[in-house]
Parts: sequence; C-alpha cells; structure tokens
Amino acid sequence: MQSVNPKNNQVIAQYDELTEPEIELAVEQSHQAFLEWRTSTFEARAAILKRAADELEQRKSELAKLMADEMGKPLAEGVSEVEKCAWVCRYYAEHGAQQLADKPIKTEFSVSKISFQPIGCVFAVMPWNYPFWQVFRFAAPTLMAGNTALLKHAGNVSGCALEIASIFAAAGLPEHCFSTLLIGQKAAKAVIENPLVRAVTLTGSTGAGKSVAATAGGVLKKCVLELGGSDAYLVLADANVDQAVEKCAQSRLLNGGQSCISAKRFLVHESLVADFTSKLLAYFDQQVLGDPLDDATTIGPMARSDLRDELHDQVLRSIDAGAECLLGGQIPDREGAYYPPTILSSVTPGMPAFDEELFGPVAAIISVKSTEQAVQWANQSNFGLGGAIFSADIEQAERIATQQIDAGACFVNDFVKSDPRLPFGGVKDSGYGRELREFGIHEFVNIKSVCVQ
Ligand code: NDP
Repeated sequence: MQSVNPKNNQVIAQYDELTEPEIELAVEQSHQAFLEWRTSTFEARAAILKRAADELEQRKSELAKLMADEMGKPLAEGVSEVEKCAWVCRYYAEHGAQQLADKPIKTEFSVSKISFQPIGCVFAVMPWNYPFWQVFRFAAPTLMAGNTALLKHAGNVSGCALEIASIFAAAGLPEHCFSTLLIGQKAAKAVIENPLVRAVTLTGSTGAGKSVAATAGGVLKKCVLELGGSDAYLVLADANVDQAVEKCAQSRLLNGGQSCISAKRFLVHESLVADFTSKLLAYFDQQVLGDPLDDATTIGPMARSDLRDELHDQVLRSIDAGAECLLGGQIPDREGAYYPPTILSSVTPGMPAFDEELFGPVAAIISVKSTEQAVQWANQSNFGLGGAIFSADIEQAERIATQQIDAGACFVNDFVKSDPRLPFGGVKDSGYGRELREFGIHEFVNIKSVCVQ
C-alpha cells in the first residue's frame, strides 16, 4: 500500500498489507478487548474520549501536515478538521451516558425498560476526503457505547489511519479497542464475514456501499452507509444573491470540492442567473490553487490523479452535451493532481453535471423557471444527502426544506455542515442509517427490552 503525495505524485511511504492470519488475530483481539471494554463505566470511557480530544488539539498542526501530504488538504482546513474531531469526542464524552441510559417504560410489569447494550466489534470502512473526521465521527460514539472498532481506511491515507490508532492509545484506550488494519478491499470482505465482527459502517462511493452492504447482507450484519451526494442548492427568485453566492461557493469549494455534502447543483431562478453567475465567477476566480502547505493556498491538489481525471471526463462530457464552460475546465500544465475551480452553466438534466456526483471544484449552474421546477429538479437525482434553499421568505423556505426536499438534511440560507448535535446521513443512493447525536450512538447497540414480572 502506498501513500502518494498528490501535489507531485511522489511516494511518501509504503506499507505492507496485513496477512490473513494477522487479520484474523486482530479481529480475535478486538473481540477479546470488547469482552473487557463492555464492562467499563461511562465515566471511564468519557475520560478517555476527553484525553483523545486533548491529544488531537495538541497535535493538530502535525496532523494537518500529514493530511496535506497524503491527500492534498490545505493546512488551515486540516487544522479545522482535527478541531472538529476533538469536538465530537467531547460531545459524546458529555452526552453519551445520558443517550445510553436505561429508559423506564410504564407497563403492567413491575419493571420494564429499554436498555442500550454494546454489540461487539464494529468494522469501519472509511474514505480519504476527511481522513480524521470521518473516522472520529464513527469511533467516538462506538467506543462510548462499549463496542470496539476496527478501521480499514482508504489505501492512500494509511499514515492518517495509523495516527488515529496512536491518538487513542495515547489517550489511554485499552489495547485492541481501536485497531487500524492496513488492508485492501478483498480482505475487507473477509473481515465483514468474520463471525466475531458484529456490524459494519462505510463512508464512500455508492459502488463501495453496494458491495459492502451485499457482503454484510449475506451474513446478516447491520450496516450503516454514508455515501455520495449531488445536492441541490435552490436560489429562489427572492433570494439575496450576495448571500447565496457566498454560501454556495464556500460549500462547493471546501476541501477542493471533495465532500459528500458539498453544494453540487445550483438551481437558480432564471431572473437571478446572470447576477448569480457573474458573482460566482468573481468568487471562484479569486481562489488560489497551489501547494497545500502554502498559507495562501485555498485549493490544493485533488487527492489522487485518477480522481482528477474522472472529474475532468465528467466536465468534458457535460460540455459535449451542451453545458457552457465559463471558467476552468482544463487540466493545468503542472505536476500533481490539480484541477482548477470550474464553472459550468446551462446545465440541464441528462448531463453528467446534473445526473452524477462531481467530486471536485466544479459548479453546475442550472436555470429554473419557478420554485416548483426547482424542487422537482432538486429531487430528480439518485442522491439525497444535504440540500439548501436561499430565499427571503423564511417560512416558505422552511416548509419546502422540511416537506419537499428528498434529503437527509436541508438548510435555509446557509450551507450544510455536519455537527455532532444533529443527525447526519442520507436517503436514496446517499445511503441509510444516521451518524451523530443519539441517532449515531444508537446505530450500533442492542436496543433491548427488559421486563420483570
Ligand atoms: P471509494 O468509495 O471506492 O473508497 C472509500 C473506501 O471504501 C476506501 O476505504 C476503499 O478502499 C473502500 N472500498 C471501496 N470499494 C470497496 C469494496 N468493494 N469493499 C470494501 N471496501 C471498499 O471511493 P474512491 O476513493 O474510489 O472515490 C471515488 C468516489 O467516491 C468519489 O469520486 C466520490 O464520488 C465518492 N466518495 C464519497 C465520499 C463520501 O464522503 N461520501 C468519500 C470519498 C469518495 P480502498 O481505498 O482500498 O479502495
């Protein structure tokens, strides 16, 4: 397994994949650790999560540098990501015990209650785009619930994967409660099928989700899937264009556009398209594409050259189908997996920029004639993760967000962010199950009814 720096395609480090016996041993050790860990108190688990948060904060600059090297994230964004990991650890340290406390229920029994019991070793398959956040978002609630965790990270961020294990170790988590397995997709299947593994969670592409869910289904194991998105941002006729442009652009360009909840399709009322487009162009034009270690850089290279090439192909196919390229759209003549901020306009259904997920800094502007058409086209997608509506009529926007947009989240006059206090997940091809808040911690527990006559 290789970590390749996407800014210059140089190999940073090579790792040997674990052998089959090593993987089996790691699963067995995780299970043995679970038998002990499940008996620990909430106070003890919370103390470890708080120490993990301290550790993350102390090491945030160094960890941001590692992300920059392995997947091209600009340093400032890496530091924010590590701070958010500390937040989710503290969130579950503070709220986990109450979210998992027995719930008494009134029935004819002398005692009847709902109890939330840990289930065992949970396997996580994680992506490279937020190499720390995606893992901590799963690990903090899972460990707080008394489960143990096995991580198969994306092959290009093995350095991050090993650091995450070292952070938990430094925080005092007992050995084997969190283990990183340096393995590929084939071995991942064997881990899911191992009887000692009780459940699986995956964040990544729809294809990876289908494959992992099929394996988990074959052995009747619970699975949570957080997959891609092609979220619509609706800019209604009465929207404040300056506000909409700022939020849409920020959301589209965060992490170089490599985020599942990025704004991807801008459904703009036809009366505002010209104004929206010229302001979006100005915003995109100011971005600095460059070395992620340089403080001036706002967009680093994409995480891998093959992902950049795939994105470029989607842009070219959209242009062939009639989209107009107003900015970018060409692979820069420089070393590394760089792709420039790109704006496509006149996008319509049937084009890749409408129908597929574009996982990079490419905005698709789609003109709509009415609010009804905006809602219809927002929902005309295989995905449904996190959309947004921009409008001066807050009541109407909230009603549309709540009742009409097929997505796991919909924000009004702001862009979608994940937040430990709010559930996170999608509908349709964006996956199923929820992370964060009590919904996340309840995914991997046995919700048990206990009654005493
Ligand atoms: P993948 O979904 O292929 O990779 C994500 C993780 O899943 C990696 O750990 C990968 O392992 C693993 N994986 C993939 N297929 C399988 C499988 N059959 N069995 C077990 N594990 C598997 O993403 P890519 O890196 O190829 O990115 C492609 C696209 O995925 C992006 O363009 C984007 O659309 C989407 N994506 C979505 C993300 C999100 O946040 N929802 C995050 C990243 C990507 P390995 O690295 O070893 O292949």
